[in-house]
Amino acid sequence: MTAYDPDNIFAKILRGEIPNHTVYEDDRTLAFLDIMPIVDGHALVIPRKPARNIFDVEPEELANLVKVAQKISLAACKAFDADGHTLRLHSEASGGQEVPHIHFHILPMRTGIPPRPRAMADHGVLAQHAKKIRDLLG
Ligand code: 5GP
Repeated sequence: MTAYDPDNIFAKILRGEIPNHTVYEDDRTLAFLDIMPIVDGHALVIPRKPARNIFDVEPEELANLVKVAQKISLAACKAFDADGHTLRLHSEASGGQEVPHIHFHILPMRTGIPPRPRAMADHGVLAQHAKKIRDLLG
């Protein structure tokens, strides 16, 4: 199995070396907005503990990540009036993974509004969107 790369971009975010638009954090997890959102409120939730993907994450760590993902998903759906939701986990390049630190994509979905192509988001807009979710999480 491929080893965990401590220089991946999410490891740098966890170390505070790269800024992010945080929506939630606790001692085990961090959630922030995707820099190239395909829907409004597109967030990523990651464990602080290093793990590459489904193949090497500890089951208990994965269970905690799902628990936190649900909490953020509910807030994100409320914040963006979503009537549906997609939770996505890619593992390895063949599974669609680009960043080799395990993460769930949280995608609030609205009827009639399909995901858009990936494009870099405006930081001002991301800041506003992150605040909308944070406010609902208290
Ligand atoms: P993957 O294909 O690995 O499941 O998804 C990685 C996601 O990370 C992509 O949706 C991409 O837009 C996002 N991403 C890549 N680099 C950065 C970054 O520096 N900051 C943030 N917030 N998201 C990133």
